[in-house]
Amino acid sequence: MRPFGTTIFAEMSALAVRTGSVNLGQGFPDTDGPAAMLDAAAAAIHGGRNQYPPGPGIPELRAAISAHQRAFWGLDYDPDGEILVTAGATEAIAASILALCEPGDEVVCFEPYYDSYAASIALAGAVRRPVTLRAAEGRYAFDPAELRAAFGPRTRLVLLNSPHNPTGKVFTAAELAQIAQLCVEYDVLAVTDEVYEHLVFSDATAPHVPLAGLPGMRDRTVQISSAGKTFSCTGWKIGWVCSTRPLVSAVTRVKQFLTYVNAGPLQPAIAVALESPPSYYQEFRDDLQRKRDQLCKGLTEAGFSVLQPEGTYFVTADITPLGGTDGVDFCLALPERCGVVAVPTQVFYDDVDAGRRLIRFAFCKRDEVLDEAVARLQRL
Ligand SMILES: *Cc1c(COP(=O)(O)O)cnc(C)c1O
Repeated sequence: MRPFGTTIFAEMSALAVRTGSVNLGQGFPDTDGPAAMLDAAAAAIHGGRNQYPPGPGIPELRAAISAHQRAFWGLDYDPDGEILVTAGATEAIAASILALCEPGDEVVCFEPYYDSYAASIALAGAVRRPVTLRAAEGRYAFDPAELRAAFGPRTRLVLLNSPHNPTGKVFTAAELAQIAQLCVEYDVLAVTDEVYEHLVFSDATAPHVPLAGLPGMRDRTVQISSAGKTFSCTGWKIGWVCSTRPLVSAVTRVKQFLTYVNAGPLQPAIAVALESPPSYYQEFRDDLQRKRDQLCKGLTEAGFSVLQPEGTYFVTADITPLGGTDGVDFCLALPERCGVVAVPTQVFYDDVDAGRRLIRFAFCKRDEVLDEAVARLQRL
């Protein structure tokens, strides 16, 4: 782990506090999730549910996850044996990679990648094989030949995040089909990070489609999601893994020695949240889409070249029109120049040049916070 420093999110959040800046760096909302969820957590804490929950997660949460998978994605997972509750998606990803990779195995992933991916792959002694997402004609895409070239005899799994952080890309049906075809051809597993499953905007070119639903993929996919982003409770750290019985059993083997279990009294509350009416998910998405539009407009007016995201909490912007040549330098200077914090996305690439001029802003913030950030950015 020697090459890994403090995560960029912690570093930039500390910079925001130190300089009194508007923090559009780290992707956490500044409002709370559904009231029924908060009430259920308080009731569970006061109602004596404060000891170790069962290893796989409490039955009512596993049942709610199973029902949610069926209702939204048409996927069937048995709550007894095919679902595991984890300490956020982060633990689910780490435990899956540790469980499924031997030292030297290769993991195909798309860069820019969420920063825990590189660390989890390193912890397993595995090797990452990144395929670069490049911006062309207003959206991020990969070269299919580059994807194919990343597969080989040592490939163990593909790690896919869609909707994708930090680019806001939603992988299309054609792109997912290419990935699935290679997984089948090379007989490898897929681990999918779908924490933004409910955040695909109405003008996206593609809806969210879980890779597990494609032909030949159900039994070779470990599907991961989390409550943090969907229910605005990133500090609760409740995630889950859905897959076949043997794969969930393998991941559980690792999870039990990382955290054993987690968030006992919060688990019943997430079960309540998952049973929210469809209107909750719709309104949540529409609200975020409005915030996206507000920030994209402000960034464009401030002079950035903006790549409009199709989903997630984030927008990436190119600093070239503002004379920027390096995102790290630009983000370090931004608090002093105008009192706003963003995250340089080059730290999520092995091919640093591909992301050198790109930075990421989060728009999962209250309207007045976004207004203030936009006003400050006009000083640039
Ligand atoms: C936020 C995020 C996570 C982490 O989810 P937790 O449930 O907080 O651990 C994982 N993957 C991506 C892409 C994220 O943006």
